[in-house]
Amino acid sequence: MQMQEMYEALGVQRDVYAYGEAVLAGLQERFAEIDRVAEQNQAKVIWAMQKNRVSAQCFAATTGYGYDDVGRDVLEKVYADAFHAEAALVRPQITCGTHALAVALSANLLPGDELLSPVGKPYDTLEEVIGIRQSPCSLKEYGVTYRQVDLTPEGGFDWEGIRAAINERTKLVTIQRSKGYQTRPTFSVEQIGELIAFVKSVKPDLICMVDNCYGEFVETIEPSDVGADMTVGSLIKNPGGGLAPIGGYIVGAKACVERCAYRLSAPGLGQEVGANLGVMPALYQGFFLAPTVVAGALKGAIFAANLYGKLGYRVVPDGAEPRYDIIQAVELGSPEAMVAFCTGIQAAAPVDSYVRPEPWPMPGYDSDVIMAAGAFVQGSSIELSADGPIRPPYAVYFQGGLTWYHAKLGILMSLQKMVEAGIVRL
Ligand SMILES: *Cc1c(COP(=O)(O)O)cnc(C)c1O
Repeated sequence: MQMQEMYEALGVQRDVYAYGEAVLAGLQERFAEIDRVAEQNQAKVIWAMQKNRVSAQCFAATTGYGYDDVGRDVLEKVYADAFHAEAALVRPQITCGTHALAVALSANLLPGDELLSPVGKPYDTLEEVIGIRQSPCSLKEYGVTYRQVDLTPEGGFDWEGIRAAINERTKLVTIQRSKGYQTRPTFSVEQIGELIAFVKSVKPDLICMVDNCYGEFVETIEPSDVGADMTVGSLIKNPGGGLAPIGGYIVGAKACVERCAYRLSAPGLGQEVGANLGVMPALYQGFFLAPTVVAGALKGAIFAANLYGKLGYRVVPDGAEPRYDIIQAVELGSPEAMVAFCTGIQAAAPVDSYVRPEPWPMPGYDSDVIMAAGAFVQGSSIELSADGPIRPPYAVYFQGGLTWYHAKLGILMSLQKMVEAGIVRL
């Protein structure tokens, strides 16, 4: 069968396929650069695995207390080395990214300390962790105060505002790399390095934590290469490579990571307990695959930006901008277009492709939300997924794709559904 017939069998019509191919023709150089980054990151991961003598012994399941768990201990050394950090905490007992961030913050902040975000509002779920929104067990309840310095209108750092916000109580600075569901730019690792250097020039003993969600392996350096004391993320995003069924990581300075281990388990126990429950093969192999998986997701994001940009939609980032995370926003301008787009993403999935996504009132949001995801790991957003709140500017946030070809199919299918709904004419 010809390629185009294959796509037709999947439901992508001839004109949609041709439109996609025309867009792709202009992206070869960009894709080659992404492959070069992936190649460097692949080498970095293999080097870390070889250095720590990963062997079949590391893949054995442990239960109970998990004392002397070789697989767990070696995996943490592999993460530490790949991130060029002193120490790492990488565990299935860390349930998600928010949990990893909450552990890092609460382990390193004590009553009377102040937390500073110099990059504006943090990710939604952190509002409750910090206590910006009332929640039992927030940092605020434990006497940790919070201060925030917003970005400038152009999306840059407000240097003087940040200097003025640092006081004798400021203990920890939290920096979110990815824009998440905001409209601000995502920061490059280099920009994060400048910010860390600046806050430490004002107060040298500040602890700098970077929320690295969606950023891992997008560049050849990580926040841990530019002075971050803790770099934190989720294993069902980039570094799990799509295979990790659960988990989070914290890498960084030994003194900080050790405290995180005591917070996660218990004072006195720390990193010594925590059985691996048989997930080690997936965590190792996922980390091994992560550089190429991230490359595929990035190609999908760039393809989407160029395709929808060419059709006249506002896309953030635009088709030509450099990338520092895997998230692509497309402003579709109407609820119907959001539904059509997400219907296409869902229809392209290997799992649950027969399901039709519909807007629903999700807890914590002030408008209905639509989500498309047909994932092997529930909620995994390194797998192809799209979501967004049904409100102006009717933007969908699109991310992931375990392979570039799946991301490509998803985007073509989204366009197909837009065409079928009469929203787009090619
Ligand atoms: C996803 C995400 C989180 C939270 O991770 P969960 O695994 O969903 O809890 C935090 N910060 C950013 C920027 C994220 O993208």
